[in-house]
Amino acid sequence: MNLLVHGGIVVSDKVIFDGAVAVEGNRIVAVGDSSELRKRFQGFERVNAKGCAVIPGLVNTHTHAAMTVFRGYAEDLPLFDWLNKRIWPAESALTPRDIEIGAQLAAYESLLFGVTTLNSMYFYSDEGSELHAFEKAGIRATVGHGFFEKTVEAGLKITEEMARKWHGRDDGRLRVSVCPHAPYSTGPSSYKMAYELQKKLNSLYGEKGKIILHTHVAESREEASVVKEAFKVDVSGGVVVYLSRLGVLSRDLVMAHTIHLTEEDVRVMKMFDVKPSLNPVSNLKLGMGVADFIKLIGSGLTVSLGTDGPASNNTLDMFETMKIVPLLAKGLHGDPTLLPSREAFKLATEYGARALGYDDLGAIRPGYLADIVLLDLNVPHARPLHDIFAHLIYSARASDVKTVIVNGKIVVEDRKVVGVNMESFLEEVERVKDSLVSRIKGA
Ligand SMILES: [Zn+2]
Repeated sequence: MNLLVHGGIVVSDKVIFDGAVAVEGNRIVAVGDSSELRKRFQGFERVNAKGCAVIPGLVNTHTHAAMTVFRGYAEDLPLFDWLNKRIWPAESALTPRDIEIGAQLAAYESLLFGVTTLNSMYFYSDEGSELHAFEKAGIRATVGHGFFEKTVEAGLKITEEMARKWHGRDDGRLRVSVCPHAPYSTGPSSYKMAYELQKKLNSLYGEKGKIILHTHVAESREEASVVKEAFKVDVSGGVVVYLSRLGVLSRDLVMAHTIHLTEEDVRVMKMFDVKPSLNPVSNLKLGMGVADFIKLIGSGLTVSLGTDGPASNNTLDMFETMKIVPLLAKGLHGDPTLLPSREAFKLATEYGARALGYDDLGAIRPGYLADIVLLDLNVPHARPLHDIFAHLIYSARASDVKTVIVNGKIVVEDRKVVGVNMESFLEEVERVKDSLVSRIKGA
């Protein structure tokens, strides 16, 4: 289906008032003035964007989508207690169906909040998974099966199967990644095997899109000492330096968190063009600290943003994350000139897309994939409108999202997910929760 989104404020490389975007199949074919594009694309189905900002869909570069089922389940705990005492025991009670329902919930929440791409790490099985959920929900996603030292062999095998079955599916909307969990939970030889698998999968399926490596790094203050103790390895110089000695760094590596870095870590990240994904809300909530956004951006790294899983955030709201990042940067450095809104917006759109290996996503440009969000400006908190980027970062709300297009298809219309009976789906989510909680208690 071909679409003409017209009559809105189009946030492209320049801001076009009364602008339009023409979409043919899954790609943007033209961006310009409404009057001109209405003449050129007469047969295209019209999407009226009057009173709306027309922006690229937001890109969440680190989450564990299915963990919506644990939203509010493990509160006010330090990371290792949060994992060892609450999350990991509860995860052992999950069924593939729980994971699929949790991921479906995450996809709906994300789409309704204007997030069109997720980079998620969780457990895959053929009976039910995040990929099954995302295929149905119509969201763009890169998904990996997270594995640990104890599960590395099975993890690599599952990842290979996932790539064969899913990578590039639905017009390239779904992609697969390789996900060793973290240096404190996954040993040096496992990282090397993961990297080798990434190379192999890219040579087999890379023409359908990059297969990235996705892992957690430098989240806690103690990480280096925990890694050293767990695997008896040399972590001098920092955790990223340690990974570089293993030979697993590349430009197709997304590192979530990257809070506690040494100077040498940052230098090595730059050398390999590693992609840090910063998750400030989860980091603050778990008391992990605050990544130095300004230092990472200033080093020339492609910095992107994530929410982390809904068990530690507790939302998938990227508008919230987009706002907190410049606030933290300005506050911590005592400098309000840092990270202007136009730049902050790129972290959640274009740079996120680049981190996931896309060079044709995350902006409204001819030739780019058609992931487009219409954001209602006919709300008191949007007026008067002096500066669209200041609005997008500081005063817009995720609930302002009216219409969402992913890969050229309308998936949210008038604030509703198309084709979904949300009331009955949410009742199902509660039933899944009740059954899960009874199984955890019985375990
Ligand atoms: Zn995470």
